Amino acid sequence: MIVILEKNITEEQIENISRKMNEFGLEVHRMDGKERIVLGAIGIQPNFDVRKIKAIPGVSDAIKILDPYKLASRTFKQEDTIIKINGVSIGSNYFTLIAGPCSIENDEQIFRLAEVVAESGGRVLRGGAFKPRTSPYSFQGLGEEGLKLIRQAADRFNLLVITEVMQTEQVDLVGKYTDIYQIGARNMQNYPLLKELGKIGKPVMLKRHWGATLEEWLMSAEYLLSHGNKDVILCERGIRSFDTPGRFLFDLSAIPVLKKMTHLPVIADPSHAAMYASDVPSMALAAAAAGASGIMVEIHDQPDKALSDGPQALTSKVYLKLVEDIKKIAEVIGKSF
Ligand code: PEP
Ligand code: MN
Repeated sequence: MIVILEKNITEEQIENISRKMNEFGLEVHRMDGKERIVLGAIGIQPNFDVRKIKAIPGVSDAIKILDPYKLASRTFKQEDTIIKINGVSIGSNYFTLIAGPCSIENDEQIFRLAEVVAESGGRVLRGGAFKPRTSPYSFQGLGEEGLKLIRQAADRFNLLVITEVMQTEQVDLVGKYTDIYQIGARNMQNYPLLKELGKIGKPVMLKRHWGATLEEWLMSAEYLLSHGNKDVILCERGIRSFDTPGRFLFDLSAIPVLKKMTHLPVIADPSHAAMYASDVPSMALAAAAAGASGIMVEIHDQPDKALSDGPQALTSKVYLKLVEDIKKIAEVIGKSF
């Protein structure tokens, strides 16, 4: 249920309303929008009579949210969520470029690619130190050594860091180095991890599992939101299909559909959907045109020598050209870098 408060409400009245809602066994989540203050109520039973809430002084309206996801829904929050991190805004009409290698491999590699990201106007450097690899024989990442390197490289070029955390035990360690936690596709439904990151005061980018429906994905976002973290970014990275020319089917239509379902920012990652780098730029452009609030792409200067995901990595040259093209699309659809 969302409880819409009257325009000139006082803090004292809000406290009173929250207390009464608590007495009805409801958990209260406050959301201060531009136009109105809304209280989200979690824990409402199907037969709960909303008139009990409507009768409290200061309440303008109370509406049940029919979607299973509550705090993530557009009903709860009509305005797009914009996440601000050290001067970088993510969401709505801001377009954020996130790029970097699949894995952090060594200092030379990550510093060089950080320079390319900065040159492109990108704001966020990506790179994995803990890698969820399909094969146990594949490179598993540099661990903390990698985290140190990506932090240093990002600081040198004034970028933010995004890197993956795979398990609850890594949350503190990864948090020492990153600005944004990435939850990988494989961990989209790792509920203990979601709960833990819900309690952390740092933004989280939640990638979609390749077998998850949009609703299942938003329910995972709901775990983060309901545990207190409002700074949640969604990342579409391709879903499983019956065709094989690509690794995954890049779900372009998810972008406009999610816009109706949720206020959360949606970033597109065409790299993990693609089998080959040659397929990435067109999908990145399409994602921008479809309304994504940014793209995340993998880049590498020597893709053939990359320790992970080399075939899909864009060279710096191709990446810089892509960014030029994206800027043109952004201008047409009114997104700002
Ligand atoms: C990644 O971003 O490097 C990654 C492993 O992606 P995904 O979780 O989408 O497979
Ligand atoms: Mn990768």
